Order: sequence, then structure tokens, then C-alpha cells
Amino acid sequence: MFTRPFRYERAERFADACELIRSLGEGAKVIAGGQSLLPMINLGLVQPDVVVDVSRVAEGRDIWRADGYLTAGALVTHARLASDVLAREVQPLLGEAARRIGNARVRNRGTLGGSLAHGDPAAELPLVMMALGATYEVTNGQSIRMVKAEDFPVTFLTTQLESDELIVSVQVPMLGPGWGWSFQEVSRRDGDFAVVAVAALVRSTRGLIVEATVAAGGVSDKPVRLGDIEAALSGASPVQIADRVGPINGIRPVTDAGASAEYRKHLSRVLVVRALEEASRRSGEAA
Ligand code: FAD
Repeated sequence: MFTRPFRYERAERFADACELIRSLGEGAKVIAGGQSLLPMINLGLVQPDVVVDVSRVAEGRDIWRADGYLTAGALVTHARLASDVLAREVQPLLGEAARRIGNARVRNRGTLGGSLAHGDPAAELPLVMMALGATYEVTNGQSIRMVKAEDFPVTFLTTQLESDELIVSVQVPMLGPGWGWSFQEVSRRDGDFAVVAVAALVRSTRGLIVEATVAAGGVSDKPVRLGDIEAALSGASPVQIADRVGPINGIRPVTDAGASAEYRKHLSRVLVVRALEEASRRSGEAA
């Protein structure tokens, strides 16, 4: 495959990168870890005139806790998310999902912002952010807007981001006491993209489910939050979970080299039940 030559620019701040992209026009692409963009360029699916490297921007690398949120900069790598002491303590679901991404090389270079912006419907982090009710801080260098994780994906490899916008950070609400979590994924081989992945959170009191959130990936053209199932679980005891989870509505799985649409549909229900049961068990332990 012939790869068209492109110019390389490096930005030291997100605002500078936005300014560069705006001045360079549609042919400019941002690169962070390069773990999705470079394969796309190599396959000829993207042919940028200019690549703007943000990997050395200092402001996007931290993970911190403030004002009821755990915030992670867009340049936090998957490896960091999986090993960060604070993230593991206050939101273990993040690390559990991050450590399932690709292989060690991909996790060492690939970034949180890059994964969310790339918009793969089977990627782990977008669906986890949906289940967690996260919000993304997005900038065009002149103004900032906050976008809910649930509203961010539009369709396959397409998100709400405008061409001159970057993700700066991700805010994840801190969970109070009594919440349990689970991440379930089936892939053909270790490190492959998920055939189906599910993230669930459950809060229980006195042995009954009070609140649940659940999101799935690999089941549609974008990750989906399963609101019907969340509503059906209110007041359920752990042993009722499988009965309360009916057919999964609102998904449109496809048949591809990874699996048939029928298998994905079947698997999504199996993993949703499994995730909710594990989250419920952990919730009981946390209460
Ligand atoms: P880049 O490749 O640098 O950029 C990806 C896209 O995001 C580009 O369009 C770029 O312009 C844009 N972008 C980057 N940063 C920002 C930002 N801050 N704001 C706005 N736009 C931005 N992913 C999974 O989820 N699960 C897997 O199991 C998985 N397995 C993989 C296996 C292999 C072998 C490889 C090569 C990749 C795999 N990936 C997987 C994909 C990859 O890990 C992620 O999509 C990747 O980490 C994206 O982050 P990046 O920093 O590398 O993004």
C-alpha cells in the first residue's frame, strides 16, 4: 500500500494544536499515541496532508481527584489507567477495562483521548465511560464545552467532535458507598478487540438493587447504554437479575469476520447478566 507523504508538526499545548488544525484545514489530523491513526494511514483509510503531534503536551497527562470527580487527562495512556493507584482505588472499572486493550505496546502508547475520539464501537473505554456517566472536556482552543459520554459517539468511527476540536480531559463522577462494578468481555484471542464487552455498576441496600447502569460495545454502530435493563432492575434481589434481564433492545449487531450478528446478540445478554451479577455481588460486599 502506497502511503502519501505528510508534513509533521508538534504542538506543546492543546490550544496551539487547535490553532494549527484550524489554520491547516481539513487535511490536518491530530496524532497522540498513533495506535489507531497510523494503522488507518497505513491502510490508506486516512490520508492527511499534515499530522499534528500532541503526544508531548504536558497538560493532558495527569489523573486527579477533586470536587466529586476523578479526572484523567486525554493523554493518559491505557497502561497508566490500568496501573494508577488513585484510579484503582476510587474507580477500578477504568483499569479493568484499560488492561483489556490490545497488547502491551498498544497500551503503552495508546491514549484515553485517542480511544474516545477514534470512536470504535467495540472499544473498551467509550462504553465504560458511558456506564460511569462520564463527561468529556472538549476544546477548540477558544472555548470549552462539556459533552456527556453517552452523547459523544455518533456512528462507526464518528463522534461529536468538530474537526478543530480536541478532547482535553475526562471527568468521572466518584461513586458513593454501596456501589459494585464489573467489566465483562469476550474476544477471539487475548488482546483482540471485543466481540462484545459490557460494563455494569450496581448500588444495593439491604440486599436489593437500588440503582444500576449498564453499557455494551460491539453490538451496534456505537456503544449503547441499556436503559430498559437499568430500569427493570430497580428493587430486584441478586437472584432475580437473570429473570429481569429480557431481550436486549436497541442494539443492531452486525456479522463480520469476528462473529455473526446472532452470536453477538446472544453473547450480549449472557455478558449483561454476568456483569450485573458480579457488580451486585461486589455491591453487597461494599455495603
Ligand atoms: P491516535 O492513533 O493517535 O489517534 C486516533 C484518533 O483520535 C485520530 O483520529 C486522532 O486524530 C484522534 N485523537 C487523538 N487524540 C485526540 C484528542 N485528545 N482529541 C481529539 N482527537 C484525538 N483499541 C481498543 O479500544 N481495544 C483493543 O482491544 C484494541 N486493540 C488494538 C490492537 C492493536 C494491535 C492496535 C494497533 C490497536 C488496538 N486498539 C484497540 C486501538 C487503539 O488502542 C486505540 O484506539 C488507541 O489507543 C487510540 O489512542 P491513540 O492515542 O493511539 O490515538
